[in-house]
Amino acid sequence: MEYEITNAVRVTPSTRIRFKCTGCAECCRHVKQTVPVDSRDAFQITKYLIESGEEISCTDQFLVQYAEPAMINECGYFVYFLKTVGPDDDCIFLKDNRCAIHVAKPRACRVYPFMVEPTASGEHGYLYSLERTHHYRGPVVETRSWMKKHFPKEDRVFLQADYSRAPLIVSLLKRIPEERRTTAVIHFHRFLYSDYDLGKPFLEQYLRNQEKLLEVLSKMAD
Ligand code: SF4
Repeated sequence: MEYEITNAVRVTPSTRIRFKCTGCAECCRHVKQTVPVDSRDAFQITKYLIESGEEISCTDQFLVQYAEPAMINECGYFVYFLKTVGPDDDCIFLKDNRCAIHVAKPRACRVYPFMVEPTASGEHGYLYSLERTHHYRGPVVETRSWMKKHFPKEDRVFLQADYSRAPLIVSLLKRIPEERRTTAVIHFHRFLYSDYDLGKPFLEQYLRNQEKLLEVLSKMAD
């Protein structure tokens, strides 16, 4: 799926920038519908919240409480974003100017000030945010080293699988008759976000769920 990226420029792995977190939390404000929560993020954050004593037991509860869906295609394909609160649209996890889920924060926050963009060749492209320019002073940061630290292998495999199958899921959803579309979207949510054993590794469950989803949607589209 094509989507427009604004306020960012493409960089290469060897691009070096200057960056220092000043603790101002500006990157966590005015973030309505800008912090995506994908299947892996939902899994990791839910586990972290449970381990931290939060009274939730599954990804569904986390998503209801902390995220909101946004439709990106009229066929029913949607993505989740973290909710925001207050007049400045603060991220729901911003507490006293700090991230309450720092060790489990979503990929978009981990790789900031960079962004990751899967490419058709199976690699990943990187972009560099042009917003909040007061961050861009301090130590030199090389894109490659930053990604090695903040964009681990499992994340790369997941993102490529997620990205590469999205067009097929969209085309199947579009072929499913209108009267069965709601059921199809429920399956979409269930397999990609909900049907996980939090005690087991994420990636193999995700890949298996993705296959099951394609199977179910293919039958519904026939
Ligand atoms: S998850 Fe944490 S780092 Fe990301 S926007 Fe929210 S408060 Fe900021």
